[in-house]
Amino acid sequence: MEHIENDEKYNGLTVNQGVAQPPVVNPYLQRRRPRRMPSAADMVEGILKGDVTMLSRAVTLVESLSPDHQTLAQEVIEKCLPHSGNSRRIGITGVPGAGKSTSIDVFGLHVLKQGGKLAVLAIDPSSERTKGSILGDKTRMEKLSVHPSAFIRPSPSAGSLGGVARKTRETIVLCEAAGYDNIFVETVGVGQSETAVHSMVDFFLLIQLAGTGDELQGIKRGIMEMADGIVINKADGDNVQRAQLAAAQFRSALHLFPTPASGWTPEVLTYSGYYELGIDKVWDMIDRYFAFVKENGYFDRKRSEQARYWMYETIDSQLRSHFYNNPEIERMLAEKEVKVLNNQLSSFIAARDVLDRYYSALFER
Ligand code: GDP
Repeated sequence: MEHIENDEKYNGLTVNQGVAQPPVVNPYLQRRRPRRMPSAADMVEGILKGDVTMLSRAVTLVESLSPDHQTLAQEVIEKCLPHSGNSRRIGITGVPGAGKSTSIDVFGLHVLKQGGKLAVLAIDPSSERTKGSILGDKTRMEKLSVHPSAFIRPSPSAGSLGGVARKTRETIVLCEAAGYDNIFVETVGVGQSETAVHSMVDFFLLIQLAGTGDELQGIKRGIMEMADGIVINKADGDNVQRAQLAAAQFRSALHLFPTPASGWTPEVLTYSGYYELGIDKVWDMIDRYFAFVKENGYFDRKRSEQARYWMYETIDSQLRSHFYNNPEIERMLAEKEVKVLNNQLSSFIAARDVLDRYYSALFER
C-alpha cells in the first residue's frame, strides 16, 4: 500500500486518529490497593526489631510534607526517642570529588568488621530526588550498599537547609532505635550544610585533597574550626608526598585556632580511600576521640547542647510556617510588598502592621 505520507493532501501537522486504548489485560492490576499505612505502634515495634522495611517507611514519613504524615511521624519519633542516643554520630564532609563516597564505602566496611550496624545519611539541600547529585545514593557506595548491616539513605529532597537537616536529625533517632550504632552523616563541603551537620554529630571529619587550593577556602569558611579530624585523601602513587606536605600545612594552620571546647586537638592524617591505605589510622583517631570526650564529659555536654539547639530550631521553623502559611497574612504580605516596593510604605511599618494583625488574630481566638 502507498504510504500515507506520500499523499499530496497529507498534512503532518493535523492530528490523525489514534489507536483505541486496549483494555487492561491484567485483571489484578485494577484490584491492587495502595499499601495500608501501618499504625505508629506497629512502626515502632518494627523499628525496635530492626525491620529495615519499617525503618524505611518511617523515614519516608518523616520526610513527607503532608500534615497527616507529619503527625504520625512525630508520634513514631517520640516513641523511638527513649531507645535512641546509643550510637557514634560521625559527620563527613569534603568538596565534590574529594572522595567521600569511596571513603565512606571503605570506612563503613572497616567499622562493620568490628560488628554492629551502620546507617549512612546525607544532607544536601541542593539535591532533588529526580535530578542532580544525590548524596547517599546507593550506587556510589558499591560495597556498603549490598552489606546486610548497612542502611543507606539519600538526602531528603530539596527544601530549606533547616528543613532538610531537621529531617536527617529525626532520621538519626529512628536509626538508633533500630539498633544502628554507627551513623555517618555526609554533606558536600561547599556551603552552610556543614554547620547543620556539626549540630547533630559527635565527630566531624573533613576530607581534603592535596594541592587543590582548597586549603585556605576551608579556613575562610570556618569549616576547619569545626573539624575534629582532617584527612587528606588520595595519598597514593606519586601523590603521597604532596599529601604529606598538605598535611603539614594543615597542621600549622590549625595552630592558629584556639583549642576547641572539646579539649581535643584536631589531628591531620593522610590516607587513600581507593587503595585502602591508612584506613585503620583514621579509625584509630576516631576511636581515641570518642574515648577522650566520653572521659572528659564533653560528649554528653555536646549532645545536650545539640538537643537544645534543635528545640529552638524547631520552634523557629514552626513559628515561621505558622505565620507564612496563614492565608490572611499571605494576602496582607502581598499587598504590603507592593507598597514597600513602590516606596509608599516603609519596610518597618509594613512589618509592624502585618505582625500586629498576626498577633491580634492569635489573641482573638
Ligand atoms: P565524592 O564526590 O567526594 O563522593 O568523591 P568520589 O568518592 O566519587 O571520588 C571522586 C573520584 O576520586 C573518583 O574518580 C574516585 O575513584 C577518585 N578517588 C577517590 N578516592 C581516591 C583515592 O584514595 N585515590 C585516588 N587516586 N583516587 C581516588
